[in-house]
Amino acid sequence: MRSRFSAFALGLDDYIQQSWHPDTCPQGPFTEAGTRWTQLQVQQASESGDEGQVTFAATFHAEDGWHQLIEQSRFVKQADGWKYLDGQPQWLRLQPGRNDACPCGSGSKFKKCCA
Ligand SMILES: [Zn+2]
Repeated sequence: MRSRFSAFALGLDDYIQQSWHPDTCPQGPFTEAGTRWTQLQVQQASESGDEGQVTFAATFHAEDGWHQLIEQSRFVKQADGWKYLDGQPQWLRLQPGRNDACPCGSGSKFKKCCA
């Protein structure tokens, strides 16, 4: 899960495809040049046998501002590792206040950072 987030953050389309279950993998490209992924919070993770579930919130910046993807993902274990099967995504638009923590993850207030 974290490695997939890193792959999105770094634009590693090959890794994203390789870690996606072949039955559900769409056509790439998977990453967009104008999108910057900044933070990942894993909220819940569980595993039973060859099936895993991860709920996460990922923050990113696109041309039109800050967004958050909250998703409950399903993973399946195969011979060469865990594969992303599918998920239920929720896309939120973030509207950080001037005194809120900056969504880039710097730890600074928004007004002193990316505002
Ligand atoms: Zn910032």
